[in-house]
Amino acid sequence: MKEYVAEQLELGFLELTAPFDKMTLEKLRAEVMACTRCELHKTRQNVVFGEGNENADLVFIGEAPGAEEDQQGRPFVGAAGKLLTKIIEAMKFTREEVYIANVLKCRPPNNRDPLPNEVTHCKPFLTRQLELIKPKVICVLGTHAARALINSSEGITRMRGQFYMYNGIKVMPTFHPAYLLRNDSAKRPVWSDVQKIMAELGKQSK
Ligand code: SF4
Repeated sequence: MKEYVAEQLELGFLELTAPFDKMTLEKLRAEVMACTRCELHKTRQNVVFGEGNENADLVFIGEAPGAEEDQQGRPFVGAAGKLLTKIIEAMKFTREEVYIANVLKCRPPNNRDPLPNEVTHCKPFLTRQLELIKPKVICVLGTHAARALINSSEGITRMRGQFYMYNGIKVMPTFHPAYLLRNDSAKRPVWSDVQKIMAELGKQSK
């Protein structure tokens, strides 16, 4: 919570619809749905807040919604999302047991990379989401999501495969499922990364 308050003060966002100690995911969702903090609100079809188990031990974070997600208002519902669902099931979870969200809640036009100022404006929402969910492990998907939580300018190839800490939560970076769709050779390292998460959460791999 301290991190969120500090970020809010830094950004000048002092007015919240709910006091910090009364905030819930539903109240936060309502705030994000009405957000106009960055230019992306002008081009979005829908805000993609995130979905899943609000008490999840495991949270997956991508960088931003794509076209399908923007249309449906749900995270990871396109081809990459279907692959993520398969990965989740291979980890012996269901999609409903985990929580899935993105750093940016609105789609960047033409799926371009998130701009630094968009991340700065949107990240406090993710910080608050994570403080409310309190997962044991966060799996960040791809370079941009990893950089948003890990203080590093490295690419995902160098960052992946080891745990980092974010506000007391273990963070495992791995390749984005969209990258996996184009690069079969990335499947083995991703499986290695998610096995480390499974071990951390007491799930046995075969
Ligand atoms: Fe607000 Fe985030 Fe959407 Fe920008 S991307 S308008 S900060 S919810």
